Amino acid sequence: MIYLKTEEEIELLRKANLLVSATLAEIAKVVRPGVTTRQLDTLAEQFIRDNGAIPTFKGFPAGFKDADPFPASICTSVNNIVVHGIPDDTPLKDGDIVSVDCGTFLDGFCGDSCYTFCVGEVSEEVKMLLKTTKESLYKGIEAALPGHRLGDIGAAVQTHCEAQGYGVVREFVGHGIGREMHEDPAVPNYGNRGTGKQLKNGLCIAIEPMITQGSYEIALLPDRWGVTTRDYKPAAHFEHTIAIHHGKPDILSTFEEIEAIEGKQY
Ligand code: MG
Ligand code: MG
Repeated sequence: MIYLKTEEEIELLRKANLLVSATLAEIAKVVRPGVTTRQLDTLAEQFIRDNGAIPTFKGFPAGFKDADPFPASICTSVNNIVVHGIPDDTPLKDGDIVSVDCGTFLDGFCGDSCYTFCVGEVSEEVKMLLKTTKESLYKGIEAALPGHRLGDIGAAVQTHCEAQGYGVVREFVGHGIGREMHEDPAVPNYGNRGTGKQLKNGLCIAIEPMITQGSYEIALLPDRWGVTTRDYKPAAHFEHTIAIHHGKPDILSTFEEIEAIEGKQY
């Protein structure tokens, strides 16, 4: 069931998403070698709660009956971890990348956005992966026009990344978003132009390319949350929540502050 949102609901979604963006900007200020992902998680949870919201990820139920709910407020996925990394006490090292996925629940609506950060000096090869993944997110967003179809978004992401020889993860996809973090429809990062459900004004979706330097094959970690590339090559993940609004995509989250803090890295 797809719920199209009203003007008022889109503005509430924007508020929840701008809080995610502000949280990721707080993280941008402190990401450096020696910092642990648990420290990032503590900071994020405090910031979200101080702003009157709830971290949506904390306690999020697992996809398996006998697995524990997600124990933290952000997912921190380092290097070969694609998504859903659990924060821990391992210090980040110079040359690592860490994707930080964050969700908020504010005034009845959800925010969801992710950014992959460089830790210290990252190789040119890996910076190219980050650059291409971020570009593909915006290519996907540009394709999110009323009258277009879901496959147009996936095709735009896939074409851009595969042209550089990168892999597009198949098992995890973007999603509708609103009062629930995950609503219909699923928004794959692959597909064929002109196929799938038609996009309409009021549709709110999270577009989130998960792109690998090598093969797109993945495997679940023993903690049953973290997902690694099978070849252990790095993966990148960028995510925006958007509304299709007044005939065009309206990006409800923002990387502006993060990019101002980071400076031009790639
Ligand atoms: Mg997310
Ligand atoms: Mg998402």
